[in-house]
Amino acid sequence: MDPSPAYPLPDRAHRERIAANLARVRARMAAAASRAGRDPAAITLVAVTKTRPFGDVLAALEAGQQDFGENRVEELWEKVHQAEAQGLQQAIRWHLIGTIQSRKSRLAVGPFALIHSVDRPKIARRLDRDARNQGKSLDVLIEVNVSGETTKHGFSPEALMATVPELLALDHLRYRGLMTMAPLVEDPEEARPVFRRLRELLLDLRERFPPERYPQAQWEHLSMGMTNDFEVAIEEGATLVRIGTAIFGPRS
Ligand SMILES: *Cc1c(COP(=O)(O)O)cnc(C)c1O
Repeated sequence: MDPSPAYPLPDRAHRERIAANLARVRARMAAAASRAGRDPAAITLVAVTKTRPFGDVLAALEAGQQDFGENRVEELWEKVHQAEAQGLQQAIRWHLIGTIQSRKSRLAVGPFALIHSVDRPKIARRLDRDARNQGKSLDVLIEVNVSGETTKHGFSPEALMATVPELLALDHLRYRGLMTMAPLVEDPEEARPVFRRLRELLLDLRERFPPERYPQAQWEHLSMGMTNDFEVAIEEGATLVRIGTAIFGPRS
């Protein structure tokens, strides 16, 4: 079989813009970490490429980016296949960050580093079943709707604590931590209490469901912070930030 033709790289000005944006975001992340007395190496930047062409992934890769996130599982698979066709699969860690429809749960079992969006018991059960059927285990985060907005997905903090025992019984899922989306606010300071609360919930889970007793409970990660609020999220303990606009520009 002929090798796939090389995917066309974006033009040079576009690549340079993405590289410069990435450098700026990384510098802002490091500054926020240092304000909080944290090691910047403990925070992973997930570049969110939803709606972007694969060329944007290539441009970011060229600038040293390794972790990429998509919110729709079909679009994630498209990009995975494009990466495979270019022989780049080993260079990328893929993250699924958006809500998963139950009937598409099978698609979420793939070469993905982390699923950030286990947002209801039913999807946890489906993912567990599909992972088992494929002889795999999945690394997941539980999504929490801290702000209680009805437009947001995720467990309420109360439902989370009540449901975790049931989730921990699903032994093809490894629970690596929590994820949240803060409300869209003018001033990122207004999102701070949401991030702080997510961190408190993680600490609470560590105490109540310690890994020594629950082997698939790991509770290491806080996936929180996007273009508008990632610095505040880092000050409050984020270990994964999910950033699209600040790297690739506004989505149409
Ligand atoms: C789109 C998206 C992001 C990135 O948003 P930006 O504001 O563009 O940085 C982060 N997380 C999720 C779940 C998303 O869907």
